[in-house]
Amino acid sequence: MSLLSVEQLRVAIRGDDGVQRELVSAISFAIASGQTMGLVGESGCGKSLTAMAILDLLPKPQALRSGGKILFKGDDLAQLSPKALRQIRGHKIAVIFQDPMSALNPVQQIGRQIIEVLKLHFPQQSRAVQRARALELLTEVGIPAPAERLNAYPHQLSGGMRQRVMIAMALACEPELLIADEPTTALDVTIQAQIVRLLKKLQEKNGMAMLFITHDLALVSQLSDHIAVMYAGKIVEYGPAATLFSTPRHPYTQSLLAALPGAGHPPKSPLLSLEGQVPSIENMPAGCRFANRCRFAENICKRSDPVAEVSDDQLESSEQASVACHLWRSISS
Ligand code: SF4
Ligand code: MG
Repeated sequence: MSLLSVEQLRVAIRGDDGVQRELVSAISFAIASGQTMGLVGESGCGKSLTAMAILDLLPKPQALRSGGKILFKGDDLAQLSPKALRQIRGHKIAVIFQDPMSALNPVQQIGRQIIEVLKLHFPQQSRAVQRARALELLTEVGIPAPAERLNAYPHQLSGGMRQRVMIAMALACEPELLIADEPTTALDVTIQAQIVRLLKKLQEKNGMAMLFITHDLALVSQLSDHIAVMYAGKIVEYGPAATLFSTPRHPYTQSLLAALPGAGHPPKSPLLSLEGQVPSIENMPAGCRFANRCRFAENICKRSDPVAEVSDDQLESSEQASVACHLWRSISS
């Protein structure tokens, strides 16, 4: 059984005009214990809404889950009582966001903030044990001089250090799943790499699963067992990371890969750079959402929306993989 299984999830927002528009359209993926799934896509494609839906943190009443299931260890999160859901969120599932400053309390010392999390999850622990654990966590996430930093306020730390504190707080509840939504996007490249290495190391040590959300395919390739590529609210390709990199099937995945530095083309090669815009939710085409930017598009693409198909070479193996493109067979052969 998967740790987390998202089945045909739909998220919609209700506009001021009262019309409901779908921002996440029937997406499905699964994460096994201890594994990492990378959810990749341009900003606005629905990645963060997916994370918020899993955590039941959608901004209500504007945004709502309009369909599908989210199963955590087989339990449908939508069927749980608010109390049971709180037990899972923050305890079994933890989250880190792009901007740690907004998640940290600016007027509370970071040691205190970690201890607050520990109090909530391990109320039976003595204050001394909690303090020792807070120190241990700061050490574990690579904060230098952790004993002094316990008394620091968030603004006294750099962006990278604040993200390390957020990771320490997430780890404090010993989650089985960590959702990391663009955790390194606000950081410079060197710090980004350090945080990614740290997450990987902690994950191996603690055996937690991770849903790593990013717009950066190169970043996710260093971490993920599986990758789901999202475009305009849909997962267009999903599969083991190695397969997705060696034999991308969807034209969108192909262009993302071709644009990576070191892909063997100048990054702005005219054949491979994506012209045109992502369709807006007011104006979703009836056919393939990528058609206006796809160099392989044919008539059928404009008429009918491709359904995710299991790709042939996966039929024999137990690995899940799919691609939503009418022409993937002829394109990838
Ligand atoms: Fe391109 Fe057609 Fe495939 Fe869409 S369905 S990605 S337009 S080839
Ligand atoms: Mg986002």
